[in-house]
Amino acid sequence: MDYAANLLSKLPGASKRDHGLRHLLDTLASYLPDTKIKQVADAYTFGAAAHKGQTRKTGEPYITHPVAVAQELADMRLDSEAIMAAILHDTVEDTDATLEEITEQFGGEVALLVDGVSKLDQIKFHSRAEAQAESFRKMMLAMIEDIRVILVKLADRLHNMQTLGAMPVEKKRRIARETLDIYAPIANRLGINRLKVELEDLGFRYLYPMRYRVLSKALKKSKGNQRQIVKRISEEFRNAMTEEGLDAEVIGREKHLYSIYKKMAEKKRLLSDVVDVYGFRIIVKDVSTCYQVLGLVHGLYKPMPGRFKDYIAIPRVNGYQSLHTTLFGPKSMPLEVQIRTQNMDRVAESGVASHWQYKADSPIDATPQRRAREWLSNLAELQGSGSSEEFLESVKVDLFPDRIYVFTPKGDIIPLPKGATTVDFAYAVHTDVGNRTVAAKIDRSLVPLRTQLANGQTVEIIKRRGAKPNPNWLTFARTAKARTAIRQHMRNLRKGESVDLGKRLLDRSLKDLGSSLRKVGKLRMSAAIEELGLKDTAQLFEQLGLGERIAPLTARFLLGVGEDGDVTNEPANLVIAGTEGMVVSYAKCCYPIQGDDVMGYLSSGRGVIIHRNCCGNLINFRKQPEKWIAVSWEKDINLEFSSQIQTDTLNKPGVLAEVAATIADGGSNIEQVEVLGRHEDCSMLSFIIQVRDRNHLAQIMRDVRKMSNVIRVSRDCA
Ligand code: MN
Repeated sequence: MDYAANLLSKLPGASKRDHGLRHLLDTLASYLPDTKIKQVADAYTFGAAAHKGQTRKTGEPYITHPVAVAQELADMRLDSEAIMAAILHDTVEDTDATLEEITEQFGGEVALLVDGVSKLDQIKFHSRAEAQAESFRKMMLAMIEDIRVILVKLADRLHNMQTLGAMPVEKKRRIARETLDIYAPIANRLGINRLKVELEDLGFRYLYPMRYRVLSKALKKSKGNQRQIVKRISEEFRNAMTEEGLDAEVIGREKHLYSIYKKMAEKKRLLSDVVDVYGFRIIVKDVSTCYQVLGLVHGLYKPMPGRFKDYIAIPRVNGYQSLHTTLFGPKSMPLEVQIRTQNMDRVAESGVASHWQYKADSPIDATPQRRAREWLSNLAELQGSGSSEEFLESVKVDLFPDRIYVFTPKGDIIPLPKGATTVDFAYAVHTDVGNRTVAAKIDRSLVPLRTQLANGQTVEIIKRRGAKPNPNWLTFARTAKARTAIRQHMRNLRKGESVDLGKRLLDRSLKDLGSSLRKVGKLRMSAAIEELGLKDTAQLFEQLGLGERIAPLTARFLLGVGEDGDVTNEPANLVIAGTEGMVVSYAKCCYPIQGDDVMGYLSSGRGVIIHRNCCGNLINFRKQPEKWIAVSWEKDINLEFSSQIQTDTLNKPGVLAEVAATIADGGSNIEQVEVLGRHEDCSMLSFIIQVRDRNHLAQIMRDVRKMSNVIRVSRDCA
C-alpha cells in the first residue's frame, strides 16, 4: 500500500467517506514528500471536524468543497502551504475554528493565507459598471500580500461555479456575472489560462443559459464530424514525426465556448466560420524541436500566409510562449497548430502559479513578494525591450500597488494613495463634500477624521450645511486634491480679512508720515498701482494684509519720499521682494547673503537694512517691532554679496597665502583679511569674501576645510 492510501486508511472516518481526499492525496504523492502529505492530511482532519454537520447546497458534506479547491491547486502542483490553506479556507469564516488554532497547528504561513482569503470574502462587489469592475479587481489584488491567496480564491470560485447548479436563478446570474467581470480577468492577468478558460465557460453558461445551450449543441454536432478528422490528422502528424525520429505529443484541441461566443459577438461572425477550425497542440521536449516540427507540418500541409506567429522568440506579455501556424488541411479546411515545449505548456496553463509549484530542491526562503517579482522579472526578460513594457508596468502596479481602494456607502469604489484619510476620501468624492465634512464613519462606526483608510473599507462622510474646512486638516490630508481645496478655502476666507487689514496698515503708515489714504488721493493711488504692476487697490491692500508687501515702505512710495528724499532704482535695491523704491543695504554685522533667513530693519535715513535672523543685533531691535519687516529674497538674482568666514589654521609659513589661493580658486574675491588672534600653534583669521549665494559659500568653505593646514572653518553671526 502506498503512503497516501495508508494515510487515508488511518484518518478518522475518512476512508469510508472519501470526499475526494483519495484523489487529492494521490495527486500530492506525485510531487510532494511524505512529510508534507502528512501535514495536508492533518489539515483535512482539522477542516472536516470544523465543518462537521455543515452541507453544501448540493447536499454533500461541506468538506467536499475545500477538498475540491485543494485538488485544483494540487493539479497545478502548488506547494503544501497553499494546499493546506485551500482545505482550511472557509474554517475561520464559517466555523468556530480560530486563526490562533490554525497558527498553532499549521504555522503562521498557512494562517496568513487563510486570513487573506477570509478578508477577500468580506468585500462585496455591487456595481455593474465596467470601470468599477476594473477598480474592484485592483482592490482585490491590492488587498493580498501573497499571490497564493488569490490562487486559493480563484480555485474557490471555480468550484463554486462548478456546483452553481443548485443555486436559485437570480443568484446564479449574479455570481456568473461577477465571475466574468472580476475573477476570469484576474486569472487572465496572472497568466493562469486553465482557470481563466473554465471560469469563462461556466460564467457564460449561467449568465446566458440559452445562448450557451444553442452554442454548445451546435458545437457538439460539428464536433461529432470533427472528431474523426482530428483523429486522422493527429495520426498523420505523429507518424511523420516518428519517421523523422522526433519525440512529440499531439493533442487535438477544442476551443472553449466563451471564446467562440466572443468571436461571434465581437466580430459578427457566423458560427460555422468560428467553429469549423481544427485545433492541434504539439508538445515537444526542447525549443529546437519546436522549429523542426514546424518545418515538418509545413511540409505536410501548405501554411496559410500571414498566420505564422513566433511567440517563442517574441513571447506574449503574460509570458506565453508557443509557435502558432495555420495550415490548409484536406478540402482546404483550416488547421490551427500550436507547437511548444512542456515547460512552455506549463507556464501557458499556470502563469504566475508556476512560481509556486513545488520544487523539492529549491529553498523556500523566498518571500511571496519576491516570487511575484521573480515572475514579473521573468516576463520582463522574455519581453526584452519590447513594446509591452507598459502592460508589464501595469501588472506590476496591480501586484505591488501604492494605492488603496475603498467603497462609498453606495458601493462605488474610490482609489486613493496609501495613507489617505477620511478627509482625502471626502474630497475625492467631491470638493463640496470635503468642504462640508464634519465627521466620518468607517464600516459604520464613527472615527476621527485623521484616521487612515485601509483597502476594502466602506467610508461614509457626515456633512453639515455651512460647515467649513479646518486648517488643521492640512496636517494629515494626503491628496493634492484635498490639500489644494483646503488651502483655497483658507485663502478665500482670508482674502476679505486681509484687504481690510492691509488698508488699515497702510493708512496708519501714511499717518506716521503726516499723510493719509484720503490725502494721497485717487490719482496718485492709481498711478502707483500701475507702477507696481498691480490690478487694483484691493490687490495692494490684500498683499499688505498678507504681509507680502510692507506698509511703511508702500507709504513712502506713495508719498514719493525715499530716505533723504532720493528714490533710487538700482537693481541692487530690488533683490528683496516688496522693497521696490527703497534703499536696501546689507548689515555689516552679520553679512547676509542670498538664501539666508533674513529680516529687514527700517532705519531712519538709511532705508531698509537686511540682517540675518541669527544676528545678535536683532535682540535690540526687537524692542521696536514696528521697525522690523518680514522680507524674502527675489528669485533669480544675479549679484555678489559680501560674506564673512573665519578659519583656524596651523601656524605654518605660507598658510594665509594657501587659504587665499583656495578661496580665489573657488571663484571668489577677497575683500579683506584680518588676523583675529594668534596662539602658540594656531591662528584665527577672518576673511570678507564675495559670493553669489549660500551654495557658493558652502562650496568655498568645503574646499578650505579640506586643506591640511586648516583646522576649522566657520561662518558666524556677528
Ligand atoms: Mn469556499
